[in-house]
Amino acid sequence: MTYFCPGCWKIIPADVKICPSCGCDLAAAEVRSYPERLIVALHHPVPETRTLAAEILGELRYRPAIGPLLARAREELQERPPDIQFLAALLRSARDCGAPAHEWQALLAQSNSRLLRKLVQ
Ligand SMILES: [Zn+2]
Repeated sequence: MTYFCPGCWKIIPADVKICPSCGCDLAAAEVRSYPERLIVALHHPVPETRTLAAEILGELRYRPAIGPLLARAREELQERPPDIQFLAALLRSARDCGAPAHEWQALLAQSNSRLLRKLVQ
């Protein structure tokens, strides 16, 4: 089993209490609520994991996730190439959490991917 630091997402040994890379207090990170941990997981290094985190936040209709979802979508749009499946999950979830249409549609318009448009609809 591989453990990732919830602060910096580097691989860490299973038995440490403080991340050797960023100093994150792993015990304190454990007590975060489930949706808060999902928001942190939007930066998970494994694409399937971060996509799943975005999808679950959308299903939960977790309104406080709107800002982090849109911010993460903005970051992903800077990647060359962006992960289209992940971007679609971020924008759908922002919409499902109640983000104003103009906000997530503006990000959708920044990508010229037809697949992304299709996945978000
Ligand atoms: Zn760390």
